[in-house]
Amino acid sequence: MDPEMLTVVNIREQLSWVHEKSVAATEKAKVLIEGAVEKAAVVRSYPTQRQKVVKRAVVIGGGIAGITAAIDLADSGLQVELIEKTESLGGRVLDKPVSYEAEDLPSLLNEKMKAVRDSKKIHVRFNSEIKQVEGCAGDFQVTVAAKGKEETIAAGAIIIAVGAQEERTDHETSERIIALSDFEKDLFKPGSLVAKGKSFVFILCVGSRTEERPFCSRVCCSDALLNALKVKEINPDSDVFVLYRDIMTYGFNEELYTKARDAGVIFVRYDLETYPKVEVVDSRPKITVRDPLLNEAFCLRPDYLVLAFGMDPSPAVAIAKTLNLRITEDLFLEEANVKFRPVDLPKDGMYVCGTAHSPMSISEAITSAHAAAARAGTLLSKDYLPARSGVAEVNKRRCSACELCITACPFEARYMDYDEMIAQVREHICQGCGTCTAVCPNGASTLRRYEENDIFAMLEVLT
Ligand code: SF4
Ligand code: SF4
Repeated sequence: MDPEMLTVVNIREQLSWVHEKSVAATEKAKVLIEGAVEKAAVVRSYPTQRQKVVKRAVVIGGGIAGITAAIDLADSGLQVELIEKTESLGGRVLDKPVSYEAEDLPSLLNEKMKAVRDSKKIHVRFNSEIKQVEGCAGDFQVTVAAKGKEETIAAGAIIIAVGAQEERTDHETSERIIALSDFEKDLFKPGSLVAKGKSFVFILCVGSRTEERPFCSRVCCSDALLNALKVKEINPDSDVFVLYRDIMTYGFNEELYTKARDAGVIFVRYDLETYPKVEVVDSRPKITVRDPLLNEAFCLRPDYLVLAFGMDPSPAVAIAKTLNLRITEDLFLEEANVKFRPVDLPKDGMYVCGTAHSPMSISEAITSAHAAAARAGTLLSKDYLPARSGVAEVNKRRCSACELCITACPFEARYMDYDEMIAQVREHICQGCGTCTAVCPNGASTLRRYEENDIFAMLEVLT
């Protein structure tokens, strides 16, 4: 059935859920149905553009999420171009020795990297960057730059998995003040140097949950507690302090917190106003912190101070700029709909996974990658995409070629046909938002299903 010919009356949400008096609600339902019948009598069918689907996906970002999505798509028989800006795959997980979710993280990553290497369907482009994306769902033209050369790849779907990076804010420097990500690389290897220390202080939320970076990075607490537990396992007599604002060991990670307490890790809370003061005195860190329970400041002189930095969404901001995508107030990529389309981007045919979307753990990034690959695979399984229902169209006789709609369209779905001197609509890109109809000074731009005839036919009954 032509979806343009379908008229829906929403009796549940607009009637039974909002009216207590059933008789009045029934009367309203009758009128609304009558209006819909009148509208159905005048709606018309439209010729629609069909979009041929290029059976190839571009995955941007070769971290664990990007690799996972690429493998899933390749396993479905689809060609994948995996674009990685560095010279190796793995992203932030590449030399991370352990995770609180996967004890043998290197094996997990190696397995995935081997699957990429062995796949005949995945073509990896290292040291490559996305320069531009044109086209629409089913037929994108992705321009990739590498070694000073540019190449355009045709793809039906795009998955963005550019990840986030560690936000290393300014801090006192000393060989005894170490970022958590560096500390764990040493701690978990045989013959660890840092494990020879006798006292350790971990500061959580360094550079996170501030005015500039208001979000919680979700993984630093659990990572830090895993390291604190490892220190206690190697040297049960060591002194381990964790200075925290809130412990975000959500879900089953709460066990890390209870285990750390049982192992003798001492937790001291601080807030933004009483942020621990860090100095280096006699080559050793000196941390002054105020305990809110005792309401007293005290000093710690550990062998090692470990700083748990949060996530920096700069890669998401950069790709959003290149692809003209929306970002959230936390500067991550914004999905089309948080409940119903959580891995879809507002532009049809584009999907997001991993920490480009929001702070998440490795297992959550992998899960989101499976979801994004499933969504992209569904689109790529079709030979043709129909235009969506309710797109804009232009009345040729009324259009004065003023181009206001072209500038106003937030999805770049309008272009000027200079031969005909009228604005045209790329139906596969149009989201039916109606912005062009609002700005058109001549009433030349209309939305299918919301034309004057349709609306007035309904109003005749309702008024
Ligand atoms: S309805 Fe929205 S997306 Fe479609 S052409 Fe008009 S402004 Fe662009
Ligand atoms: S705003 Fe209206 S009149 Fe101007 S180019 Fe667009 S459709 Fe034509």
